[in-house]
Amino acid sequence: MSKKEGIKTFAIDLDSVLADTMVVWTNQYNKLNHTEITKNDITLWDIGKLLPLSSNEISKIFTYIWKNLWFDIPTCEPRLPEITRRIHSKGYRISVLTKRERPTVEYVAKWLDYHDIFSNDLIFVYDNMPKAGYPFDILVDDAPVNLIDIVPPKKGVLFNQPWNKNFQWPIRVNTLREVEENMI
Ligand SMILES: [Mg+2]
Repeated sequence: MSKKEGIKTFAIDLDSVLADTMVVWTNQYNKLNHTEITKNDITLWDIGKLLPLSSNEISKIFTYIWKNLWFDIPTCEPRLPEITRRIHSKGYRISVLTKRERPTVEYVAKWLDYHDIFSNDLIFVYDNMPKAGYPFDILVDDAPVNLIDIVPPKKGVLFNQPWNKNFQWPIRVNTLREVEENMI
């Protein structure tokens, strides 16, 4: 629990938890390479093991779509405005905790406003500081690497995506709604 008067923090990853970024990422990849891959083909965390791209090229596409196509990036599930407000009304501060390239920051803020997603703060991580070191009681994330260092009483919830199916983790969900309805 956080120290201040029992207020708890519910941290939510952005890419592939709130924002279904890989749908637009794969579209953009297809446009550049005349391929027909879909998000479901991305079955490994390391995209460079599936597609002939360097990590620099992979992140260049991320930056491009966030800067130029952010309005096309869908939410991962419907009703996020209500779900985020309900989590808050249950006594949690909501912290959107996202690691990213600096040039995409302003577009992420626009995207969150456009989709009317409630949050009490928005934390942009530019370096390799593990997310586990940030203040939260619960973190929902699709990246195994962000969950492995979490120590109880902090709780890590894995958001199902095609690239994390083989990772052993006790708490998995398909939606944030499931977390709101069953875990808090
Ligand atoms: Mg993510």
